[in-house]
Amino acid sequence: MKRAIFPGSFDPFTIGHESIVLRALDIFDEIIIAIGYNTTKSGYFTVENRQKIIEKIFEGNKKIKVTSYSKLTVDFCKENNINFILRGLRTASDFEYERAIAQMNHFLSEKIETIFLLTEAEHTPISSTILREILKHGGDVSRFVPKGICLKEYL
Ligand code: ADP
Repeated sequence: MKRAIFPGSFDPFTIGHESIVLRALDIFDEIIIAIGYNTTKSGYFTVENRQKIIEKIFEGNKKIKVTSYSKLTVDFCKENNINFILRGLRTASDFEYERAIAQMNHFLSEKIETIFLLTEAEHTPISSTILREILKHGGDVSRFVPKGICLKEYL
């Protein structure tokens, strides 16, 4: 069974994240979307609400599970029998950041491989950080979040 974790802050989950998960369904048998959080740092959306949003998006899809964790990603993988880490790449700066994390994770656990999917071209400028800025100033982000999700209900 090919099981992958898609780790991230997902604060909030965007159509860019959704697209990576949907495309990865052809590669993996199960994808665990895992919200990584730091107990000392609170996000914009609560971890509980970020999880609710993602669960709603993938409701009924048996290949996708949603959870949260606050530990090393490789330790979460070992405990849950996961061999692949899924990440998305938008730009060269994403690549440099992701390369270092993936190589460090490989030092920590040789059995775990990171698999990258390049973002769809139209999703390249979409980031949770920019969406949060737009939201803070009352802007409309609905076209950047998956269908059926109204982020204001989760604030
Ligand atoms: P993190 O804080 O761990 O980077 P994010 O929620 O920002 O968490 O991102 C999780 C993953 O999704 C990362 O691999 C990131 O590169 C990827 N990602 C973020 N936005 C997009 C997008 N618009 N298209 C494709 N991948 C994306």
